[in-house]
Amino acid sequence: MTRRLPGGALERLAAAHETEVWPKRMAPPQDELLERAASAEGLLTMLTDRVDAELVAACPRLRAISNYAVGVDNVDLQEATARGIPVGNTPGVLTDSTADLAVALMLAAARRIVEGDDVVRRGEWRTWEPDFLLGHDLHGSTVGIVGYGRIGQAVERRVAGFGCSVLHTSRSGGVPLGELLERSDFVTLHVPLSDETRGLIGDEALGRMKPTAYLVNTARGPIVDPDALGQALRQGEIAGAALDVTDPEPLPADHPLLEAPKLAVVPHVGSATHATRELMADMAVDNLLAALAGGRMPNCANPEVYDRP
Ligand code: NAP
Repeated sequence: MTRRLPGGALERLAAAHETEVWPKRMAPPQDELLERAASAEGLLTMLTDRVDAELVAACPRLRAISNYAVGVDNVDLQEATARGIPVGNTPGVLTDSTADLAVALMLAAARRIVEGDDVVRRGEWRTWEPDFLLGHDLHGSTVGIVGYGRIGQAVERRVAGFGCSVLHTSRSGGVPLGELLERSDFVTLHVPLSDETRGLIGDEALGRMKPTAYLVNTARGPIVDPDALGQALRQGEIAGAALDVTDPEPLPADHPLLEAPKLAVVPHVGSATHATRELMADMAVDNLLAALAGGRMPNCANPEVYDRP
């Protein structure tokens, strides 16, 4: 296990198996992970761990990988599948928390919450002013949901309460991405990171958005090109952006993107509530326990491993 987890799930694992937990705040360096994982039959990994072909090859006894996330873009799924190793993930339990944060970021961007807090702290709140810190309404706006899966649909349910119209796009339906970008007042990203979605929101996509529109990313950082976003914000091509995920992660405090105006960034906290992180821990441990007992993982990102003879 590459990190301690909230709640009591790891104790359940330790009751059934010999376990080793990386004790530090920072992820284990890759060489340390390679060395310590070498004799493991199961790995419980975070999205900050690189579970690549080299790591999988370095663990000859490995029978299960359980990732503490719904996204598995940090895992070489193809390699794991080729070796018959199931990869567990944690879908569903983090859907509502992540959708809550997406809506919080829409409101933060459009109602200038971070800027407002900063103004107060800097002593620049002089009086009530008719045209001070004006933003845009979420209510009654058109929200474009890119990736209409569990989280995308949970965002739709929330913004319905704000009287928003929704457009959505995914490979299996909805409107074309270009149309969604042109018509939306808010564009919120909920696709997984893949070869197809890396850099999906670059110069061209940002150029198609309205100058009054906001971009929200709670999916994965590399879906948005940070240079293109910085430029779009500086040139006023869009009204603002709010990001839970960035490229790179963590975003260094001196990264040029942070110089751009109308940008709020939070440190990848989409699923970061006490309840959700405990549910994720239970799910990740259940995946590992099932696979190590020779059964099927309840939540598996490469279920085709079970179709193999
Ligand atoms: P999901 O239910 O699998 O939904 C993903 C959606 O994306 C599906 O509707 C899928 O539909 C669509 N999609 C996939 N590839 C696409 C492409 N190339 N172009 C357009 N649409 C595409 O996943 P979820 O549970 O909602 O989670 C979505 C992502 O959110 C995760 O993969 C993870 O990276 C991220 N996440 C982030 C946090 C956080 O802490 N910020 C927390 C949870 C999840 P089609 O297959 O029909 O295209």
